[in-house]
This record gives sequence, structure tokens and C-alpha cells, in this order.
Amino acid sequence: MIKISIEKNLSTVVENIENALSRSGRSGEDVQLVAVTKTVDVERINEAIKCGAKNIGENRVQELESKIGKVDESANFHMIGHLQSNKAKDLVGKVKLIHSLDRPSLAKELNKRSKRENIVTDVLIQVNVSEEKTKFGLKTEAVLPFIESILDMDNIKVRGLMTMAPHIEDEDRLREVFRELYKLRETIKDKNYKGISMEYLSMGMTNDYEIAIEEGANIVRVGRAIFGDRNY
Ligand SMILES: *Cc1c(COP(=O)(O)O)cnc(C)c1O
Repeated sequence: MIKISIEKNLSTVVENIENALSRSGRSGEDVQLVAVTKTVDVERINEAIKCGAKNIGENRVQELESKIGKVDESANFHMIGHLQSNKAKDLVGKVKLIHSLDRPSLAKELNKRSKRENIVTDVLIQVNVSEEKTKFGLKTEAVLPFIESILDMDNIKVRGLMTMAPHIEDEDRLREVFRELYKLRETIKDKNYKGISMEYLSMGMTNDYEIAIEEGANIVRVGRAIFGDRNY
């Protein structure tokens, strides 16, 4: 078995991020790297944190909960996967950012639970730009009406958009998807909605994070490039 060097992988990813930033004339800008740790054990997660990982991404509430308290507290958890409304209560107050708000019922539940705990929960709206049937997220044209429908929910704060690009090699098509999310963010910014900020674009994974950064991402979610392939 080949031993995976988390330290080496992480530094390669960080270097690639910096190179992508300078290629796109954004040297020195901050890109948050979310190390995606689904199926990764606590020991390896803590190794990544020791090597500099500050943000940890999980896609299942149960797995995330099981790692809280065991993972070094210097890192922040991000919920990046599909979220059932009945699990919202287990998550509120425990994560720095939820990347996967995609429907009114979930917004309502997150708002209610956050209000109960007297906190404001930061969220990104997940957009299914490529309109794949297997993916969650709002269609691009549904995002503005959705935002308008949740403007009065004071205990959730929308801070940007998230998407997952299709699993394809076609770089032009990937760029199209990322550009559409970027454009949508600009459209929302121009509306100057009260209480909505649009500072984050969470796009790019192992296969496409450099392209995503070239197209404006400032959060990337990278798993396999850091921890190696997952065996389910
Ligand atoms: C698994 C996952 C990732 C990371 O995928 P890799 O290919 O391992 O980099 C990113 N975002 C979401 C929503 C995921 O579920």
C-alpha cells in the first residue's frame, strides 16, 4: 500500500491555489480551502489540521456530529452536503458555514432553530447550475425569487453561492458552469438586498479547483487531492 502524505498533498494544493490566483491576476487574495473529510478518520483529519488545514468539510450530519469533540478545535466545520430539514437542529451552532441551502422548508427550519439558540447561521445557497438530475440545488433562475422569499428570516444570513460542477473533463464546459455562478452572484449583488452578502463563491473540488479559482472561486472544497481516494 502506498502511504499517503497528507502534509505533502496539502502543500501541493495550497501551492496550486496560489498559482491559480496569480494566473488570474488575484495574487494575495484569500481563498479558503475546505478540506473535505467524509470517510476520513479523526486521526488523519487531525494530521491535516496540524499541517495547516483550518476548515473541515463533511457532507453528512451524523458523520460530522461523530467527529465533533474529537477533531482539533482550532479548525471549523463546514456542512457541504445535502441537508434534511429534520437534521437542521443537530447542526445549528456547530458549523461555521452551511454550503447547501437549497429550499424554502430548510431555510425556515434553520431560521427557527437558530432563533431558538439566539444565533445567526451563515449559509450559502446551493445552485444546480448544470441542472443534473442527480444533483441538489436550485436552478439558476430560481435563486432570486428564493432569496426574496427568505429576506425576512433574520437568523440565517446568506453569504454567497455554492455549486458542484459536473464530473467531466471538458474544461470549457466547466468554465461555463463556474462563470454562470459568478454572473449570478453579480446579479444578486446589484440588487443590494438588505441583510444578504455575496462575498463567497464556493466552487471547485479535486478535479477542477484550479479552474474554479481562475473563474472567481474564493472557497474550494477539496478531498481526494489531500487524503487520497475514498474507499466506500
Ligand atoms: C466530496 C465532496 C467534495 C470533494 O470532492 P473531492 O473530489 O474529493 O475533492 C466537494 N464538495 C462536496 C459537496 C462533496 O460532497
